[in-house]
Amino acid sequence: MTVYLVGAGPGDPGLMTARALELIAAADVIVYDRLIPPGALDGARADAELIYAGKEGGGPSMPQAEIDRLLVTHGRSAAEVVVRLKGGDPFVFGRGGEEAEALRAAGVPFEVVPGVTAGVAAPAYAGIPVTHRGAASAVAFVTGHEDPSKRSGSAVDWEALARFPGTLVFYMGVRQLGTIASRLTACGRAASEPAAVVERGTLPGQRVVVGTLETIVELAATKGVRAPALIVVGDVVSLEERLAWFSAVRPLAGVSVAVTRARAQASGLAARLRSLGAEVIEAPAIRIVPLDGPAPDVGGYDLVCLTSPNGVRLLFDRLRSAGRDARVFAGARVAAIGPGTARELAEHGVIADVVPERFVAEGLIEALADVPVSRALVARAADARDVLVDALRERGAEVDVVALYETVASPLGEAELAAVAAADYVTFTSSSTVRYFLESAGDGRPRGRLASIGPVTSATLRSHGLAPDVEATRHDIDGLVDALVADAAAR
Ligand code: SAH
Repeated sequence: MTVYLVGAGPGDPGLMTARALELIAAADVIVYDRLIPPGALDGARADAELIYAGKEGGGPSMPQAEIDRLLVTHGRSAAEVVVRLKGGDPFVFGRGGEEAEALRAAGVPFEVVPGVTAGVAAPAYAGIPVTHRGAASAVAFVTGHEDPSKRSGSAVDWEALARFPGTLVFYMGVRQLGTIASRLTACGRAASEPAAVVERGTLPGQRVVVGTLETIVELAATKGVRAPALIVVGDVVSLEERLAWFSAVRPLAGVSVAVTRARAQASGLAARLRSLGAEVIEAPAIRIVPLDGPAPDVGGYDLVCLTSPNGVRLLFDRLRSAGRDARVFAGARVAAIGPGTARELAEHGVIADVVPERFVAEGLIEALADVPVSRALVARAADARDVLVDALRERGAEVDVVALYETVASPLGEAELAAVAAADYVTFTSSSTVRYFLESAGDGRPRGRLASIGPVTSATLRSHGLAPDVEATRHDIDGLVDALVADAAAR
């Protein structure tokens, strides 16, 4: 079969190509490097063989000859789709060319899937266009790390580089930053020429240091800049001041946030956090277990209250099994506890009549104050609070409760708990996430700031001796995210 030499882009998972994702999903074998985006292999088949060929911090990596041999052996097997996944572009300082040569020599067919190279993407995320009218009409990609075994002298022609009429982008150069700056100036590049180092470009921890050839070494040392990082030299660097955009649209860049809600519900919150630049640690402390039961006779009530998106989904599941649809709601007023629940209802064809301003049971009670109710149905979790039911009964309504699901503990593993313990923030979106998370964590309390979706969850935290550092003012996912962004900005 074919071996695919695939670029995975510079780090932001969103910069992986459609073709890369397609091939990862199809692969039988994936041989991957260290610098691939987080979650790049999430789409791989469960039965795919994943082979790590990178080096672990300074340690030895798999020798190139062995990687070549591995690709050839797997490539010869007629049944296998083999993906060789590399950071950035496979043919830009990626040794992809050598692997292609080995495959060609062995008669194994290959395809190359280019990737977004760090040399263009990291500067772009820093607000530095590598070419710019009037500032740079050429760009050179240079290795900053020369192979020490090279006997034929320096592979880099410093004089030519110093004369190069355009932007210089150095890969693998942080450790050589001093040498690079001094050689360029010694060969005639102005000491005042703008220079930047972009560390972990396009990733949540992206940092940008801007100076000149004269100052950049000290600035980078003060900030403790480490690999992976790119060095950019040229007038285009001064555009950073005006064009930097990453930290504005990624207010949570460099911030790690643990999400404790059930995996099935976590994706919306996790995606929002990631889109703001956060590194998300998924640590589902709870699981939603649907309960079996008949479809309630919705038509017999004048008020139907739904308290979560899960409840909406599961209620419609039951209705569907009974051969019913949204028309059963025709005669009833429908109340949703918050916009997420209302959205889920709308997706099932029902527009909620009542959505309170405060997204807690108490808010719903207030919002229903002027709504006449004689028979109400409350569809919810088995372990939910009774405030809504009690308040409606107090008003003289006949109230039936249908328990659609229960939340149960989803014990966290040691690695997950360690990741949560180290996170900057731990989010709690319900009392059950608090209870079950703490059950898993035992004495290992998180070190980061605790963020709660609202007063009920906060009270549960307090009852366990923990004080919430952040409490959302809008008690839904958007409100929680807003509160996190505000808190992170203030720190
Ligand atoms: N094939 C890759 C480059 C591999 S060489 C590509 O096309 O991007 C590895 C070097 O790439 C690192 O030492 C660093 O200089 C650069 N690099 C890779 N990812 C980076 C990132 N996210 N931010 C900054 N530099 C990065």
